[in-house]
Amino acid sequence: MRYSNLFGKTLRDFPKDEVSVNAKYLLRAGFIDKLMAGSFTLLPLGFRVVEKIKQIIRDEMDATGANEMLMPLLHPKEIWNETGRWETAKGIMFQLKKDNKEYGLSFTHEEIVMDLIRKRTQSFKDFPIKIYHFSTKFRDEPRAKSGILRGREFIMKDLYSAHTSKEDMEKYYWEVAKAYIKTFKRMGLNAKIVEAAGGVFTDAHTHEFQVLCEQGEDTIYYCDSCDFAQNKEIFEGKGGKPCPKCKKGKIIEAKAIEVGNIFPLGTMYSEKMHFHFTDRNGSKKPVVLASYGIGPTRLLGTLVEVFHDDKGIIWPKSVAPYGAHLISINSNEKADSVYRALEKEGIEVLYDDRETGAGEKFADADLIGIPVRLVVSPKTENRIEYKERGSEKIELLPLEDVLKKLK
Ligand SMILES: [Zn+2]
Repeated sequence: MRYSNLFGKTLRDFPKDEVSVNAKYLLRAGFIDKLMAGSFTLLPLGFRVVEKIKQIIRDEMDATGANEMLMPLLHPKEIWNETGRWETAKGIMFQLKKDNKEYGLSFTHEEIVMDLIRKRTQSFKDFPIKIYHFSTKFRDEPRAKSGILRGREFIMKDLYSAHTSKEDMEKYYWEVAKAYIKTFKRMGLNAKIVEAAGGVFTDAHTHEFQVLCEQGEDTIYYCDSCDFAQNKEIFEGKGGKPCPKCKKGKIIEAKAIEVGNIFPLGTMYSEKMHFHFTDRNGSKKPVVLASYGIGPTRLLGTLVEVFHDDKGIIWPKSVAPYGAHLISINSNEKADSVYRALEKEGIEVLYDDRETGAGEKFADADLIGIPVRLVVSPKTENRIEYKERGSEKIELLPLEDVLKKLK
């Protein structure tokens, strides 16, 4: 991609009411644009990162045997009334009226999934069911101030699994938990599994995936020697005290960002929606449900909160919008041929071909944060200057060596 051709260039000015690091850098570097509080456009650079995040999630969900599909976002009130959540979720759900009919905008899909399964299954032979989609979610969010971390409209991957027994559900529940840890690791993030309360979803304990980060909105308590971890809402105790689980470790209090959550919902939804399957002996039993969420746009913000310095973003390779950022300094003819050679080898390149000074191009490259910067100038002669975003080391390499390093 030639930078001269890219929509959404770097900005000097950006909305001053955005105080979070993720919003400042993503707005300034041209990854997102703000429409109103908690509502952002993904510009081409931001869209590329989110697509890469989604592909990693998709790979890992498909590996658990889940099926991708797509469900509607505009829901009839009647289905939400079946569980009573039309009333109990009023605070977060956008509800609207048109021609005397009432609708809700999706903030989750449990009722819709249950209705779908109710119509398309009969006996125990149709289970387990594992289905997911990527779609927009709407939440009337009073605290829409953390940039893209907490939007009123955001992208979510939500997976639902339906089972004939609690044991079968729990087995798959922990398989997905493992897949989540792997998903985050592939993006360079170490997530902790933290016990939490279920909110408007369930009375049971649920699990959050939290990434330690000083700017995080959540407070978690975890043990420094075993896997014990709980969030502030359910933890009874203090940091620095002995761990209630292993008794040996010490409890650490830390700030964190929630990047995913999973809910062992049980039979509440099928009981309220009067949906039972026929088991092996011909008797009717309620379906056991679980749901699992990850927010790709929230991850976009989390990655910036975790990976940045005072010059800009430092993208992990697996989710970077491009693999290399090529800069031409008064050498467009030579840089054009390097650009073509990289593209021919399948390397994704952002090529800064503007008639702009070197200082501005270097500052923009640091702000945008692509993992490798390549410079072609009269000084580099028939070589290319190679520098990684997170390092100060600069090498002068022939094209073949650059290709080898980038592949
Ligand atoms: Zn412990």
